[in-house]
Amino acid sequence: MKKIALVSLGCAKNAVDSEMILAMFPRDRFVLTTSPEGADLIIVNTCGFIESAKKESIDVIMEMAKMGGKLVVVGCLAERYYKELRDSLPEADLIVPIRDYKELASKLGSLLGEEGILQMNPIRRVLSTAPFSSYLRISDGCDNFCAFCAIPFIRGRFKSRPYEEILEEARILKGQGVKEISLISQDTTVYGKDFEGGRPNIVDLLSALEAIGFYSIRLLYLYPSEIEDELIEKIAKSKQIAHYFDIPVQTASDKMLTLMKRNAGKKETMDLFKRIKRICPDAVTRTTLIAGFPGETKKDHAEALAMMKEVAFDHLGCFPYSREEGTAGAILPHQCRESTKRRRTDEIMKLQRSISYENNKKRVGEVMEGLVIGKGKKSGEYLLRSYWNAPDDIDGQIIFSSPKDLAMGEVVKVKITSAFVYDLYGVLEMSEK
Ligand code: SF4
Repeated sequence: MKKIALVSLGCAKNAVDSEMILAMFPRDRFVLTTSPEGADLIIVNTCGFIESAKKESIDVIMEMAKMGGKLVVVGCLAERYYKELRDSLPEADLIVPIRDYKELASKLGSLLGEEGILQMNPIRRVLSTAPFSSYLRISDGCDNFCAFCAIPFIRGRFKSRPYEEILEEARILKGQGVKEISLISQDTTVYGKDFEGGRPNIVDLLSALEAIGFYSIRLLYLYPSEIEDELIEKIAKSKQIAHYFDIPVQTASDKMLTLMKRNAGKKETMDLFKRIKRICPDAVTRTTLIAGFPGETKKDHAEALAMMKEVAFDHLGCFPYSREEGTAGAILPHQCRESTKRRRTDEIMKLQRSISYENNKKRVGEVMEGLVIGKGKKSGEYLLRSYWNAPDDIDGQIIFSSPKDLAMGEVVKVKITSAFVYDLYGVLEMSEK
């Protein structure tokens, strides 16, 4: 039987595509392997979002080309630079952009000389996450066209996934033993806006997912200007939906928000976080910032730092601006120097370290419930996922000690006993057994 390996790069949305691609190979005819050495077919699912991701994708493709198997390149980089890759990458036996995924099965079949490769199907995936955890994609594409972002050119216009199909997949996942799901998309807030009458919307979807009975449901990628009180209230009142607000704000000053073509102004953004804290006092907040977008002055940067202090985000990531061709930002005047972008990124992350540490210290004494997701470095230590940390490894870790053995995916309570800059440490309070 032919051995198939896949390397998945980039974000969780790409990982879901990778899981669907792996499910195209029936197990009675193919062997899925995690080691590309000796594989008959190596698929690299690339990321093409920003410069560093493109470089990583090319590096991985070249590395995989040395392994000897047939090499297939798919994903965002293949979508964005199909012609360039086709003309300059003889190492790849096949390059399939996202728009051609309908033909992926037949192209792979011809390449391998095999029949029986299945069509990509959104409800047929080989989970690459822990068996108790899964992503659930609810839409694809984006209509926002933020000035720094190439996603709408890669993934196309916003399209909600059919409601019943999402629920069908959710039921399958529940039946497979999945306890936590993370809803992903490019813009989770506006789920359903392209349906007749805008319904079912994200709140309807959350209610239906709650009824399926997951232990935890988490929303990722909420676009700030679309978050209504109804959604915040839904999250606040729910025991299953994580009180976790992942809202990439990207910048703070009105001038930069306009240049970035974001829909919300500074006041609206700040008011949003006030609304969240008022309606959902135990909300965990996460955001991302971009440092050094064209036109950003010292004053704009200072406004971003001030906003960070005011909101006191629990989790924050910052990226130096990457000038992406085809985007509105790429042709703006007053591009910042690389050294300025790096310095501002460092300043933002330095400030976040102190904010994160102060936030974490306030959690000492709190009892957090969640799932056991792994073992710590020391014997008797485990890792916990509570509402505080998402499964994508961007947030910090909760490490805890337990006097007894625990199973992965078990629900436990942990008392937080000490705080670090990004991580929390605790002791087992009670397990479900
Ligand atoms: S909302 Fe997100 S995915 Fe859409 S264009 Fe803006 S940054 Fe890109």
